[in-house]
Amino acid sequence: MAENGNRFIKQANLIDGQWLAADSGATIDVINPASNKIIGTIPKSGKAETARAIDAAAAAFKSWRKTTANERAQKMRKLHDLILANQDALAEVLTMEQGKSLAESKGEVASSAAYILWYAEEARRMYGDIVPSPWADRRIMVTKEPVGVVAAITPWNFPSSMLARKIGPALASGCTIVVKPATQTPYSGLAWGLLCEEAGIPAGVVNIVTGSASEIGGEITRNALVRKLTFTGSTEIGKLLMKQTAGTVKKVSMELGGNAPFIVFDDADLDRAVAGAIAAKFRNSGQTCVCTNRFFVQSKIYNRFIEKFTEAVEQLKVGNGLEDGTQQGPLIDMKAVEKVEEFIADAEKKGGRIVTGGKRHALGGSYFEPTVIADAKPRMRFTKEEIFGPVAPVYKFRSEDEVIELANNTEYGLACYFYTQDLGRAFRVMEGLKYGLVGVNEGLISTVEAPFGGMKESGLGKEGGHQGIEDYLDTKYVCLGGLGL
Ligand code: NAP
Repeated sequence: MAENGNRFIKQANLIDGQWLAADSGATIDVINPASNKIIGTIPKSGKAETARAIDAAAAAFKSWRKTTANERAQKMRKLHDLILANQDALAEVLTMEQGKSLAESKGEVASSAAYILWYAEEARRMYGDIVPSPWADRRIMVTKEPVGVVAAITPWNFPSSMLARKIGPALASGCTIVVKPATQTPYSGLAWGLLCEEAGIPAGVVNIVTGSASEIGGEITRNALVRKLTFTGSTEIGKLLMKQTAGTVKKVSMELGGNAPFIVFDDADLDRAVAGAIAAKFRNSGQTCVCTNRFFVQSKIYNRFIEKFTEAVEQLKVGNGLEDGTQQGPLIDMKAVEKVEEFIADAEKKGGRIVTGGKRHALGGSYFEPTVIADAKPRMRFTKEEIFGPVAPVYKFRSEDEVIELANNTEYGLACYFYTQDLGRAFRVMEGLKYGLVGVNEGLISTVEAPFGGMKESGLGKEGGHQGIEDYLDTKYVCLGGLGL
């Protein structure tokens, strides 16, 4: 058990119901970004452990797929209840390894529970079809069945809920799963193992392996027993994994990077836009795939927006996520700090004006000041690249057509937001934006009931909504002939 006694700090792989070290005994330290202290270690596993986890998942699939939807749903309801019963302890682990505020961690854990409940409900709705037959003596049936062994690879920014979106549909559909959580935030991933055990989910159904990303990823993608890969992370690694899975033609779901625009028209409700801007930019210290990367504000309202937005940004309380009232924790590591500094230096060199923030926070370590940059220009690096930090560049625009073009001028297409009170404009802009998620007068829109997922290089497939289970199912056409009708 970990030093602070939190039972969810499991320092082992879960393979076929057993908690195991790496074959070599090697470990990796896990660091708390708020204190720079070691929380614990995890196994540095590779190809062999991953192959065994896949074998275990393939063996467990034989019986798990035969359980009824109702049985699976009942276990998932238990899992949901366990998550909520342990919400505080799970949130503490999340904040310790990731840095986000305890309030945000509790919210993330609640969202994980909501995904599990949603998929427990969806388990019973995996309907097929009976299709009118063109033949008098044959009938056409279309059924849905679980794809088999699923592999999931997840990032450090939402270490609990990104797995809920994958473990949920896998369990509901009757698939088994091998999980590789992010190395910087593994305990929220390993906690799923403990919770699944306690919920009575049989050994081998959920397996979790930590360690070398390239070795684990290499085995997952090459192994023909894995029938689906679901990945959340950077577009760069997503593309690599898509190439690697081609050899065994697996289904793939990809939740990748974003470059979200946030558009404020002259006719917007300014206070509402500012509140939305804070939520859409500074949640998780700007380290979410749906965080605003570019603010576009129409010329008449530009100065007033900058003024009010800056006032609100200056109110944000930066600190250790475990402390009361903290709204912005540290960034995940010093590399993230350096990247943010590079974006700011580039913007300053090209005429950007830092209105507030702009440098490392007095708290030291990887804490960074919430930053607003006015007079942002298309030639600045963050126009194209994901910032993934608490920096808000604000561009000025004149017309609706111009801003739709600017907003769409990126290879990404995950989330976008815009503020207007004009109904006609709301429809024109919504239909003009090439994004998978659109917030109209709202800055926080993710919810389990709606399909989450990107267009273009932001990914493939959806998580949540009734669509979220589709990628975990194979469709089978059955022709029943010789009926003598
Ligand atoms: P990342 O570097 O792509 O890492 C994500 C996961 O992939 C981690 O578990 C990582 O393992 C693993 N990985 C790295 N190299 C690999 C390889 N060669 N083979 C197999 N797995 C490999 O991304 P990140 O920096 O953790 O996360 C930030 C990115 O995720 C951002 O681009 C963000 O936009 C995106 N994201 C997207 C969504 C969405 O829903 N669209 C949600 C959240 C985040 P290690 O930890 O061991 O390196």
